[in-house]
Amino acid sequence: MNHPANCIFCKIAAGTVPSRKVYEDDELFAFHDLHPWAPVHFLLIPKAHIPSMAQVGLEHAALLGRMMVLAPQLALEQGCKPYPEGGFRLVSNTGAEGGQEVHHLHFHVIGGPRPWLKG
Ligand code: AMP
Ligand code: ZN
Repeated sequence: MNHPANCIFCKIAAGTVPSRKVYEDDELFAFHDLHPWAPVHFLLIPKAHIPSMAQVGLEHAALLGRMMVLAPQLALEQGCKPYPEGGFRLVSNTGAEGGQEVHHLHFHVIGGPRPWLKG
């Protein structure tokens, strides 16, 4: 697993690697995916380096809760139509068999009018 010093998403959260920012606060950062599957596709990450959902513990419950509350708000702001006609997909690939490529916890928020490239 990568060390935070070499982690691309830590660098994006710190602003040392550029991204198209969607949202930022003390604990969380969101930015557009480089290779979007759909009209709306951004990634929501904690600024703290947690490798994946497999490392999440009770000490992260409040942080994860904030992410779950924020995701639908940002989805609407980014152009997803409201539930139930619109909506979005929330995905967190975890581990090799889960299809995880970047080992810094992230939620994909994917939505907008279909068809999509994937998903
Ligand atoms: P995964 O780990 O499989 O959930 O996928 C990581 C996602 O991060 C992919 O959808 C990539 O397109 C995206 N990604 C990788 N590097 C960057 C970057 N520098 N800026 C924005 N998105 C990225
Ligand atoms: Zn990281």
